[in-house]
This record gives sequence, structure tokens and C-alpha cells, in this order.
Amino acid sequence: MTTSEIVWLRRDLRRHDLPTLAAAAERSGSVAPVFVLDPAFWDTAGAPRRTWLARTLMALRDSYEGRLTLRLGDPQALLPEIAGEFGATSVHISTETEPQGAARDAAAGTALRERGVTLVATGSPYAVTPGRIRRADGEPYQVFTPFSRGWRDHGWRAPAEEPADLRLADDRSDPSAWEVVAQAACCDEVQLPEAGEAAAQERWEWFLDEGLERYGHDRDRPDLDGTSRMSVYLKFGVVHPRTLLADLEARTGTGPERYRLELAWREFYADVLHHHPDSLWQDLRPALTHMRYDEPGAAVEAWRQGRTGFPIVDAAMRQLLGEGWMHNRLRMVVASFLIKHLHTRWQVGADHFLDRLADADLASNQHGWQWVAGTGTDAAPYFRVFNPILQGQKFDPNGDFVRRWVPELRPIDGAAVHEPWRTALARDLDYPTPIIDLKAERAEALERLSEARDAR
Ligand code: FAD
Repeated sequence: MTTSEIVWLRRDLRRHDLPTLAAAAERSGSVAPVFVLDPAFWDTAGAPRRTWLARTLMALRDSYEGRLTLRLGDPQALLPEIAGEFGATSVHISTETEPQGAARDAAAGTALRERGVTLVATGSPYAVTPGRIRRADGEPYQVFTPFSRGWRDHGWRAPAEEPADLRLADDRSDPSAWEVVAQAACCDEVQLPEAGEAAAQERWEWFLDEGLERYGHDRDRPDLDGTSRMSVYLKFGVVHPRTLLADLEARTGTGPERYRLELAWREFYADVLHHHPDSLWQDLRPALTHMRYDEPGAAVEAWRQGRTGFPIVDAAMRQLLGEGWMHNRLRMVVASFLIKHLHTRWQVGADHFLDRLADADLASNQHGWQWVAGTGTDAAPYFRVFNPILQGQKFDPNGDFVRRWVPELRPIDGAAVHEPWRTALARDLDYPTPIIDLKAERAEALERLSEARDAR
């Protein structure tokens, strides 16, 4: 029997720039790419993420010329079996540092070892593997700017070349696993971009040519196509950040500079999660332990549905429901609204985002929410409360983004759309009146903050 080494793919669903392929090929002429659809993940992921993963897997099968082995079940139980079928002596992975994934890998590693198979980790979904960068005193960084300097100084490898003589093993999929995938891929509840490496590359090249130079200016404008939209591809490693960083290398100016910095945020949050796995659902800093929050009720449901009566909040929340993606500026605006104007714990919003985002990333999402809540890194002050009307007027100056997502408001021209209640059309619109008084709830938030501080 021809034996093959296994590349177990998880958050590295690509063929290009994949160091584990070379590591596996070094041990054997033949390599078997394997994906295990793990019910622990599949059954808990929101519909947009399942659809996105399903479409990504179908595109990945094409990348591997139909030779992607797909199985359905618990990886710890299945991998030793699959290794036996391929006669593999090693299973190659990219290091996973998210808590649940790291625990899964530890369990799978033990099960494989019992069968004489080694689990070999090469690289990670990050340019610099979380945990590598430390302060001079050996402690992990707590604040972004010094981390980003350390990250940059550390540097990263050049993109990996595919081994010249790579031979792919025959597909040993379980057909019923592909049926599950095909069913999920069909769901068009949300409008997702095209999946796969070729689509990611096409969008990235468009961004390099058309978006990067303006990125420093346009990245805060949800009404413009001003960001790269790489987050969904980075989510499952369809593209690796090292590939993007290599393409940015020869480019200078504020656009590339700013873009590198945004990728550094992704790496920073992964590093923070690696060192503080509890920060997934607990406050990273205990600054607001005594804060009084309300239980989620009708107002939170209106927030989820995009029916708060505040146009920029509603447009953003409907973009989330419609596209499985939301612009970064608006993620901050709607998070601030939920936490500070509706007095709701950040975990409630983070949970909804995880359910609805196709790019849902544990480290970036949970710490993005904590940053807004004032419990995370970088001590973003709790008392900075975004005013959604001013944010709308500033970052959607002509109101085009609101009209795109809130059709009821299309009769209102220009920036007036951010305050529909002031227009003559207000009474004829089928649009909710604001569910809260912004001024009063801001004052309430600050009152609760002061109480929480006194209680310390
Ligand atoms: P671009 O502006 O083109 O940025 C390029 C890449 O840099 C992004 O793809 C992303 O990988 C990284 N990046 C940019 N901003 C951030 C940031 N603030 N934190 C971490 N990485 C960043 N990003 C996710 O990928 N998944 C999430 O689940 C997620 N949840 C968030 C929740 C909140 C409350 C906030 C405030 C931010 C969240 N972000 C999350 C970060 C950011 O909003 C998205 O990465 C960005 O909007 C993705 O669009 P883009 O690829 O066009 O970004």
C-alpha cells in the first residue's frame, strides 16, 4: 500500500502559502489533505458561518483537484482511524492557540500517539504565532502600540512555496459528510462573497490596485467600499496574513502602513487570548466588576433586528443580518449603543455577533467588544459614549449607507436621513420612533459608572 502523510486542515483552508504541505511532503512523497467536520463546531456555529465554511470547503476541494478527504465526527476519535487508512506516521497541523481548538489538538495528539502517529505543528494562522512576542521583562504585552512594535521587529517568514514534487493521495471522504456540506452551502439567507482562494486573491488584487492608497482616508466610511473585506477569508485561513504582508512590503505611504497596523490588531488579540483564555467570556480587566447592567429585553431585540429608530444603528444591524459582515466603525457604534445606551453586558452583543458574522473570530470579536465596554486592553474609557446621530453624520455624510439598508428611509434625501423625526416626512414613514432618549441614557450610563467606581 502507498502510504501518505496527513495534513489536517482547520483554519488553513488553502493550498497557497501552506507550510504544513511542505512539512508533510518532506516525510513522504504523498500527502493527504483532510478536513474533519466536527459537530462540536458545526452544531454551535451560526447559519452564516456554516454556509461560509461549507462553500469554502467546496472551493478547497477544487484547489486540491478533488482530493480533499472529508469526514464527519469527533477528530479525536476519527484521526487515528484516518491515519491508519492512509498508513500515515504523522499528521500535520498549523498551531491552534484558541482555547477550544488547543484542547481539541491536545486530545487528538494523545489519541494519535497511542497509535504511534505523531502530531506535528508548523506555523499558525498568524504572521507571528501567539505567545512568541514578549516584553523585555518576559511578560506578555497588555497594550497594543508596544505589541505592534515588538511584532514588527520580530518579523515573519516569507510565503511558503508549494513542494515541487507534491503528490496528493486519493480522496477517502465519507460521502454523507459532503451531503451535509452541500446542504449548508445552498443556504442563501445571507449574501456572502464568493468563497475560495481564487476569489480571495481577486478581491485582494482589487484592493491593492483600487483601495489601498485611499485606505487611510476611506476605512472609516461605511458608505464607501473602502476596506479590504479580507476578514472572511482570514477567518478560515483561505488567505494567510503573511501573504498579505509580503504583498505590502514594497509599498509605502499611509495606506499600507495603516493596513499593516490593522493586521497587527488581529495578531494582538490572538496573543491576548492565548495568554488569557478566560477573557473569551469574562472581563479581561476587573475595572467594572460592580457595574450594574440590565437583563436583555425588548430594546435589545429591537437592536438585534435593526429597529431601534436610530438610522445608523439600524442600517448596521441590518447589514449584519443581510451580509454576515459589518463595517468596523459600525461594529464600534452598535456595540457602544448596546452597552452604554441600553446598559447591556458586552457578552450579549458578542454572542449575537458570533452567531451572525461570517467572519466571527473569537479573539477579535470578544476583545473588540471588551474594548468598547472598557473592560479590555488599551483602557478605552467607558465614559466615551458614541452618539449614533453624530457618528452617522460624520461617517455616512450623505446618508447613502442608511438608505441602502433601511429602505423605509429612502424618501429622505441627504444627511437628513440620520434624524428622520426632524423631517416633514416623519409621520408617513413606516419606521420606528427612537426607542430611547439618548441624552437620558447617556447620563444613566455615567451614573452607573460612578456607582461602580465607588463600589470598588
Ligand atoms: P480591513 O479594514 O480591510 O482590515 C484588514 C484586516 O485587519 C481585517 O480583515 C482584520 O483581519 C484586521 N482588523 C481590522 N480591524 C481590526 C480590529 N479592530 N481588530 C482585529 N482585527 C482587525 N474582526 C474579525 O475578523 N472577526 C470578528 O468577529 C470581529 N468582531 C469585532 C467586533 C467588534 C465589536 C469590533 C469593534 C471589531 C471586530 N472585528 C472583528 C474587527 C474589525 O471590525 C473587522 O476585522 C473588519 O471590519 C473586517 O473588515 P475588513 O476585512 O474589510 O477590514
